[in-house]
Amino acid sequence: MDIELNPALIEEEEKETVNKVLDSDNLKGGGKYDEKCSKLLESEFGFSNCLMTTSGTHALEMAALLAEIEKGDEVIMPSYTFPSTAIAFVLRGAKPVFADIKPDTLNIDPEEIQDKINEDTAAIVPVHYAGLGCEMDDIINMAKEHNATVIEDAAQALNSAYKGEQLGNIGDIGCFSFHETKNFVAGEGGAISIEDKYIERAEIIRQKGTNYEKFTREEVEKYTWVDIGSSYVPSELQTSIAFEQIKKADSMVEEREKNYEKYMEELGDLEEEDYIQLPTIPKNRDTNYHIFYILTNSEEERDQLGEKLRESGVEAYSHYQPLHTSKMGKNYGYADGDLPVTEQASKTILRLPVHRKVKENEIEDIAEIIKEFYR
Ligand SMILES: *Cc1c(COP(=O)(O)O)cnc(C)c1O
Repeated sequence: MDIELNPALIEEEEKETVNKVLDSDNLKGGGKYDEKCSKLLESEFGFSNCLMTTSGTHALEMAALLAEIEKGDEVIMPSYTFPSTAIAFVLRGAKPVFADIKPDTLNIDPEEIQDKINEDTAAIVPVHYAGLGCEMDDIINMAKEHNATVIEDAAQALNSAYKGEQLGNIGDIGCFSFHETKNFVAGEGGAISIEDKYIERAEIIRQKGTNYEKFTREEVEKYTWVDIGSSYVPSELQTSIAFEQIKKADSMVEEREKNYEKYMEELGDLEEEDYIQLPTIPKNRDTNYHIFYILTNSEEERDQLGEKLRESGVEAYSHYQPLHTSKMGKNYGYADGDLPVTEQASKTILRLPVHRKVKENEIEDIAEIIKEFYR
């Protein structure tokens, strides 16, 4: 077998559209496809306002600027995530406060947030791991009580919902990624979904601190430097690809769902016999099936099984070196053993290819390798 974990899956439509952009001589950001993407995200998923960004990391950086995070603030987030979740806030001088996750969904545990929230908490950043929604009702309630901003790290979670509402549209701000490894890709790219109160400032922050967007709408005669900001506008090359990918949002999720269910069926017996743990999708949640994973009973077992799969040509990988035990995390006073569920997940997770290029018979073969390993 020769199965990648996260291939980009670019098809004819993306190639045609990107070629049109190349022929148009208009490559810079803020053009036709930038607007088409925003409008499509808003109409397709019901977001109030969406702006395209250069990456998911940059969407998070914009969120930290919009929420006016500053030195001395605490920001509660899981440790079981990609460093971008933390660095966006660390760049503003905030302290990341790491909360443990729940063993069934690997999402942030609301009880842990309750323990850690205080008057210095400026924001809570739930990460919708694998495209599955966090316990948003609890999180929103706690944030309201403490006047904290809810910034959803929905980098993996476009086209997923919690109680019928799109992830990234539940908190104050939602951040998405179109990185090559996500469900919908642009190479690098992202988007931010914001409430009306943020839109004016978000346009400025995204455009190098200028009121350029007002100028393009002929609301001002000249544009000038009006606020802090950065260069967060993606080029038309990225947004044209993202546009074609977003159009396929539903069909891509359906194909992933089929593969996910096939794994569940093939590996169900191993779970019954307590050899492995399979992922759980709680009620009231619609996932985009971004990741399929199994949890083994030990790190050694996971490493051996991963090795065996990779030797057979299947890219099976683990992830997240927990942030609290990383070099940077330790600078904030964290140590091994602080977040046991996170550490256990990090040691025992193995992700399997679930994208639409994987065929049914290949999933059977992958499952067979895993079953053989336990036999
Ligand atoms: C991918 C990812 C990011 C970063 O997105 P980029 O587009 O790669 O910058 C942030 N948070 C999470 C949870 C991610 O999975």
